[in-house]
Amino acid sequence: MTFALFSAPEREPSHFVGFAGNRIDRQAENRSEDALPAALADPRLRILQSRGGRLYLRLGDGPANAYFGLAEARDMGAKLEHSVLLGMAEDGPVVMTPGAIEPEDLPDGIKAIDHRSVYVQGLVGPETLGELAQGASLLAWHHSHRFCGRCGSPTEMRIGGYKRVCTTCSAELFPRTDPVAIMLAVTRDKCLLGRSPHFGPGMYSALAGFIEPGETIENAVRREVLEESGIRLGRVVYHASQPWPFPYSLMIGCFGEALNDDIAFDGRELEDCRWFSREEVRDIIAGRHEGGVGIPPAGAIASHLIRAWAEAD
Ligand SMILES: [Zn+2]
Repeated sequence: MTFALFSAPEREPSHFVGFAGNRIDRQAENRSEDALPAALADPRLRILQSRGGRLYLRLGDGPANAYFGLAEARDMGAKLEHSVLLGMAEDGPVVMTPGAIEPEDLPDGIKAIDHRSVYVQGLVGPETLGELAQGASLLAWHHSHRFCGRCGSPTEMRIGGYKRVCTTCSAELFPRTDPVAIMLAVTRDKCLLGRSPHFGPGMYSALAGFIEPGETIENAVRREVLEESGIRLGRVVYHASQPWPFPYSLMIGCFGEALNDDIAFDGRELEDCRWFSREEVRDIIAGRHEGGVGIPPAGAIASHLIRAWAEAD
């Protein structure tokens, strides 16, 4: 089929970013009060456990195993009634449960690894990493929405974790996803990269910022780049997105066409910001940049934006 609206590549770019490999069938239309109890009663149930932003992993030879059975999780004191339902995998339902054991008290062979390290070190496969993004985002949202914003009373979890309801005024709360725009300002010959003070040595990346209420994605992209670098953007196009469970964001990756050259930054958000030529970026990607500049790892959406621009005609 040819249809200009859908002239994007056959494998959509979002497919390749970290946290994007979730294959769970969420069965959102079937979520009822019975959905979580039914999953917990299913003998095929697999349980992810996370405590304080750390995923319990069985580490041994070969890939780490993040899944626990019902009896095993019960033995570890998991509060199964506080589980969030991820949905149905090919081999049965998957939930994420708040872990009950402090990292130092876990049984031999099980470690609690912070979610960022699980991602950066590639400790689990892409499908599990995608499930981690879903479960961790939901658990983090529950943790920060235990009270009603309207009347201050406690709220209760419903329908497998996709809603909370106030125990006094019945206000309904739904899980949040916070949109963040991450963007590469480009011309045909150069792209703009910045350096935050907290980056590792030599690391440069795409600029980024939260999309504000009442703002389009495109206007947020233009505003952030202008504020952080003094570069004005004309056309903005969407490229790819990345679920980002720190705590529950969606990174929306865009390209913006730069209209001026003269960079101006105030050193508050960025400690450096500069143009890189296409040749330089190709050297950076190949790990042979003369100035020792590096970019985020391959799973990061910033890295995908930079690579896609470097490879574009
Ligand atoms: Zn209330």
